[in-house]
Amino acid sequence: MQLDTYRRPLMDLRISVTDRCNFRCTYCMPLDEYDWLGKKEILTFEEIVRLATLFVQLGVEKIRLTGGEPLVRKDLEKLVSQLSPLPGLKDLCLTTNGSLLAEKAPALSAAGLRRVSVSLDTLNPEKFRAMTQRGNLNKVLEGLFAAKRYGLRPIKINAVIERGVNDDDILDLVDFSRKNGFGIRFIEYMDVGNSNGWLSEKVVSKAEILSRITSHYGLRETGRQGGSAPSVDYQVIDGAGDIGVIASVTEPFCSSCTRARLTADGKLVTCLFSARGHDLKALIRNGASDEELRDVISAVWRVRTDRYSDERLEAMKSGRGYEAKAHKKIEMITLGG
Ligand code: SAM
Ligand code: SF4
Ligand code: SF4
Repeated sequence: MQLDTYRRPLMDLRISVTDRCNFRCTYCMPLDEYDWLGKKEILTFEEIVRLATLFVQLGVEKIRLTGGEPLVRKDLEKLVSQLSPLPGLKDLCLTTNGSLLAEKAPALSAAGLRRVSVSLDTLNPEKFRAMTQRGNLNKVLEGLFAAKRYGLRPIKINAVIERGVNDDDILDLVDFSRKNGFGIRFIEYMDVGNSNGWLSEKVVSKAEILSRITSHYGLRETGRQGGSAPSVDYQVIDGAGDIGVIASVTEPFCSSCTRARLTADGKLVTCLFSARGHDLKALIRNGASDEELRDVISAVWRVRTDRYSDERLEAMKSGRGYEAKAHKKIEMITLGG
């Protein structure tokens, strides 16, 4: 088991398969123009599988494919079919905006994908369009139901809640997910990347999200899955409903963070808010052996000291104020949310 400076094991890997996205969500990547990675800069499927295999040998049990929008990467199912049989890998999942899921669900399921998380922040078509700038709500709903038909489960909805934008959609989203057998995870709005204009006033806290839900439904806390999942989960007392809240801002969970990230261009990043990563692609393309790559990955993890969200909360509580742009971070679309 690989342990970092605070004795946190390396157990999860999030792989960004592309920095490109067909949406421009205002809270993530609102910019029309961006310095996108060139085709040659992106890891090939062969390189991803090689690195994923080494990570699993080092103790990673769970891999999440993400981006950017992972389904805009051509033939993603081919990557899934190579990752799903990796010995030692217990969980392979995909986070998607759902827009291409209806057409991709059959191939993904056949390739061995076990489950999906689909981002859906509102059920109001106009608001959905405004939040994603390019998305069509119906396409995402079609994607969700196709995933269900093709047996990808559990299906979880991810909803980022931003004050004054979609905090009035919380109960609709709970009702929709209960009715259709989807789980739902509400996410506190975070200061990811450098372009979303984050302000602490726009964060709707976990306490507030829960109080909106408990005004209608009784909830029973079931804790964090596996003890280290980002989400604190709840069951609705009447039985139907799997709800969770990811409270990165108001109740950070850095002390149990076991997640590494592999960027679309092959950098190993040890925190969602990192300014830089360690270039594994350069090593691979310069002929590094598996042993050398494993040594580098363990060395990077061993010296890991990241606790950005803990530090953010300390700064917010100190009265010193908190500057979201204190350092230039890697964009979330590149490092994988
Ligand atoms: N494009 C895919 C999607 O939207 O699901 C995968 C990549 S996206 C970066 C991964 C997750 O990050 C999504 O669930 C998205 O809602 C979340 N996310 C993006 N920006 C965020 C922010 N500022 N605060 C909290 N979560 C955010
Ligand atoms: Fe939205 Fe996901 Fe694209 Fe970010 S990566 S803009 S959250 S769809
Ligand atoms: Fe992990 Fe960094 Fe998030 Fe803390 S801020 S939970 S260390 S990714």
